Amino acid sequence: MAGSVIIGAGECGVRAAFTLRELGYDGSVTLIGAEQALPYERPPLSKDLTGAAREIRAKEAYAAADIDLKLGAQVVGIDVEGKKVGFEDGTSLAYDRLLIATGARPRLFPGMEGCATLRTDSDARRILSQFTAGARIGIVGGGFIGLELAATARRAGAEVSVIEAAPRILGRAVPPEIAAVVHARHEREGVRIRTGTGVLRACAMTITLTDGTALAFDIVIAGVGAVPNVELAQAAGLHCDNGVVVDPAFRTSAPDIYAAGDCCNFDWRGNRVRLESWKAAQDQGAHAAAAMLGAGDDFAKAPWFWSDQFDLTLQVAGLFDLSAPIHRRDTSDDTHIVFQCDLSGGVSAAAGVGPGNAIAKDIKIFEKLIERATPVDPGSLADASTPLKRLLKA
Ligand SMILES: Cc1cc2nc3c(=O)[nH]c(=O)nc-3n(C[C@H](O)[C@H](O)[C@H](O)COP(=O)(O)OP(=O)(O)OC[C@H]3O[C@@H](n4cnc5c(N)ncnc54)[C@H](O)[C@@H]3O)c2cc1C
Repeated sequence: MAGSVIIGAGECGVRAAFTLRELGYDGSVTLIGAEQALPYERPPLSKDLTGAAREIRAKEAYAAADIDLKLGAQVVGIDVEGKKVGFEDGTSLAYDRLLIATGARPRLFPGMEGCATLRTDSDARRILSQFTAGARIGIVGGGFIGLELAATARRAGAEVSVIEAAPRILGRAVPPEIAAVVHARHEREGVRIRTGTGVLRACAMTITLTDGTALAFDIVIAGVGAVPNVELAQAAGLHCDNGVVVDPAFRTSAPDIYAAGDCCNFDWRGNRVRLESWKAAQDQGAHAAAAMLGAGDDFAKAPWFWSDQFDLTLQVAGLFDLSAPIHRRDTSDDTHIVFQCDLSGGVSAAAGVGPGNAIAKDIKIFEKLIERATPVDPGSLADASTPLKRLLKA
């Protein structure tokens, strides 16, 4: 038996490796990661000024679970016919089942090549070392990573400008009501946000706007999205389209090869999507591992994402259709949740923002309602006097 091989020792790959063991798999498990560091959590990299990487699992846990962790090892090819993966040094490793969990990397548009980007612990060390009192920090992109970095830099006393081409921040993921709360908070904290402002080019220390204005900074960081690491899969002939395309059990188009996490493109309620989310990476890693052992269930976990900026936590469950109507439900402590229902009447998405854990319990219930997909009355869901738990029980 050649065993199970996982390419990518990130959130998804690690979860898959441990799930194989938790489900009783006793063949060999090899987890291959290109990075040198013990697998670590990425979310703290943009939220924590220390930039200290938090390990996903302690080193001893891999040995205890008999997981062969190969770090600093780049897979350069997949031989689909021969069922093996190849390494840079010309060696190869056979597999019975293979999971591709290669994640994503920061996107850079032409003309932005000199900007700093954030994905790894070493990116974080480089960026965070510049976050000092009075330092001028330029951020291209008002998405989650750009805004979290803006908040972290401000906490260090830096002068921060965020340049966003769209008319508002967080334009791709959350409804305007939620984005407005986040925007107001940044402005109150002294972050300068310029929306509707195009960038012609940006380099290590300058952002040139489309009107020709050149803005000087001590560091320019681009936070303009991520692209999935699909080159290996593509070269092996697997079907890829904004990620490695998988079925509801995370099987790719090639036999015995699965893909999950940020690199995969899966079906969520009739739409092909690719998520960049810590929880999705874990959920999908666990689901793919079970599928590798023969489980046949379809993946049904709702997308869920959070972001911390200053003392605010924003959470999104499900996926919004930003062109469709949105309902609002006030919560007890001066915050509110916005939500949406799909054509069948089930809740399809919900989002909220508030200090600390203010919206966490309510979003959890919305997440369950989304997973359940049973029709609800939006009017009674919007009515703050209707207990959410009652709706869940119903
Ligand atoms: C700065 C930052 C902040 C974030 N904050 C949040 C947040 O607040 N909330 C949230 O929900 N999500 C957040 N995320 C997203 C979350 O971290 C990712 O969705 C999650 O890490 C994805 O896990 P993954 O295992 O799919 O990919 P990754 O974590 O990217 O892991 C993939 C691994 O595969 C390795 N690899 C790639 N190709 C090869 C190869 N050929 N051979 C060997 N190894 C290879 C890569 O080096 C990498 O280590 C954040 C991400 C970043 C970067």
